[in-house]
Amino acid sequence: MNVINVKNLTVTYNKKPAIKGINLDISEGSIIGIVGPNGAGKSTLLKAILGLLPIDTGEVKIFGKEVKSSLKRVAYIPQKEQFDWDFPINVSEVVMMGRYPYISFFGRPDANDKEIVNKVLKKVEMDKYSQTQIRNLSGGQQQRIFLARALAQESDIYFLDEPFVGVDAKTEVAIFNLIKELKAEGKTIMIVHHDLSKVEDYFDKLILINQILIAFGETKKVFTPELLHRTYGGQLTILQKAEQLIVN
Ligand code: ADP
Ligand code: MG
Repeated sequence: MNVINVKNLTVTYNKKPAIKGINLDISEGSIIGIVGPNGAGKSTLLKAILGLLPIDTGEVKIFGKEVKSSLKRVAYIPQKEQFDWDFPINVSEVVMMGRYPYISFFGRPDANDKEIVNKVLKKVEMDKYSQTQIRNLSGGQQQRIFLARALAQESDIYFLDEPFVGVDAKTEVAIFNLIKELKAEGKTIMIVHHDLSKVEDYFDKLILINQILIAFGETKKVFTPELLHRTYGGQLTILQKAEQLIVN
């Protein structure tokens, strides 16, 4: 069954297209990488699928329904710089945000919500920091908290935008292990990623994008010099690195 259907999706900012005519059918239970140069529209694609941006043309369905009626089922970890880390809020309060879709407007978190927050904080090894202000966390700790917030939402689809940027190697391994656990539970995970050296290890399927969809398919079929050329165009330094990686 397809968990996400994207048909002819175009998004423009100030009349300039950021993504054009994207078609995607995403089936459940895989880890999908979204790769392309800076400004290629990777973040725009995620936000548009999530209904966070007005779309110009096209249609997005999640579990066959409008995005609005599936919001609980999709957890989103934005690019880190899009979050105000100076905001005076502590770790457990951030993770509790993952429970908001389950709490009524005038309601308060109940014992079950609190138990889930404690459980996911242990999972990301941040339970000792539950009362720490988020501004005092390292980059790796911040990303663990983001992941905990997403896990607390108990969703079926996870969107992660550059989750490993500014993160220490140990945290990257820990986060990726949790992502693999999610996959083993049949969840679908889409990850914007720019470190081409990890692509073959990390992703079952790959989306290559540069405004238009260059390719979507099994990583071993899509991660080729020719398709990377088409994706990265003139950005030769990145490309040469990629080709070396393929050759080696
Ligand atoms: P990526 O995540 O692949 O780096 P983005 O989706 O962030 O790319 O951006 C795609 C294009 O849209 C870029 O040219 C970017 O400058 C532009 N863009 C992104 N967000 C906005 C915005 N809020 N307003 C105007 N232009 C934007
Ligand atoms: Mg981006």
